[in-house]
Amino acid sequence: MTFRARHLLGIEPLHPLEITTLLDLADTYVDLNRRTIKHSDALAGMTQINMFFENSTRTQASFELAGKRLGADVMNMSVSQSSVKKGETLIDTAMTLNAMHPDLLVVRHQNSGAVNQLAEKVNCAVLNAGDGKHEHPTQALLDALTIRRAKGRLHRLTVAICGDIAHSRVARSNLILLGKMENRVRLIGPPTLMPAGVAEFGCEVYDDMKAGLEGADVVMMLRLQKERMDGAFIPSEREYYHRYGLDAEKLAFAKEDAIVMHPGPMNRGVEIDGTLADDINRSVIQEQVEMGVAVRMAAMDLLARNLKAHRGAEAAGEH
Ligand code: ASP
Repeated sequence: MTFRARHLLGIEPLHPLEITTLLDLADTYVDLNRRTIKHSDALAGMTQINMFFENSTRTQASFELAGKRLGADVMNMSVSQSSVKKGETLIDTAMTLNAMHPDLLVVRHQNSGAVNQLAEKVNCAVLNAGDGKHEHPTQALLDALTIRRAKGRLHRLTVAICGDIAHSRVARSNLILLGKMENRVRLIGPPTLMPAGVAEFGCEVYDDMKAGLEGADVVMMLRLQKERMDGAFIPSEREYYHRYGLDAEKLAFAKEDAIVMHPGPMNRGVEIDGTLADDINRSVIQEQVEMGVAVRMAAMDLLARNLKAHRGAEAAGEH
């Protein structure tokens, strides 16, 4: 099998073939999800726990639905009621849950690196549902599937990622994935919202939106991550929208058939014009949500297969 990973902690450790394997399987789950009876038994008998220490709408709902459609027993741990509020550390909580024998643990946490740390302590498969400014691998994979289906390929495309690059795990995971698949990535945004060392990323960097969008096949907008900003990064939202908000006039600089993406949640009138976001001829934002469920089903299915094989080999070694 060409998917060897035991956890899905980020895009960084994945081989391009593993990415393709996962997307190919996700395509089959898109078909399943469009049927009236959306059921598979890939995770039958397995337990999936979702631990979200940061707010989430799409990601949490989509992981829950994905697990249920694959036949897993799914538990959502509500952090507001958990012992974490009483001062228990993330690792203690993970060890407690580990003792209940979950097979898949889906974790979102505000600290970069927290999910990797946790994966070292537990003996199930761990999926990173977003850790701080670090990675959001299933988002990048669902974006990749959306692009591949809309453009018919996932290589030699010009993809413009625009806005708050510095605070975005979505931008990070996407630029790693798109780079691995040999696309040309451009980062567009004010210098205050570019990460330190951006020159080393191997991307073209623009602070002028129109110049950056010239000839782009894909335009990916990002939300201003105010919760991760400690100070003023932009003069005002109005000024930001004027310079970096995507509207029809700026989009006209991209290719005529360029698609518009946004991971959500969207701030209409801040990073994107509301009418453009809803324009089904240009925007694939709803498709991204649909692909999210399929990609998470594929990721959990592949990890579950590896987990079963690993446990089987361990058991065989014991005798
Ligand atoms: N939902 C994405 C994330 O969790 C993007 C965002 O919040 O702006 O990173």
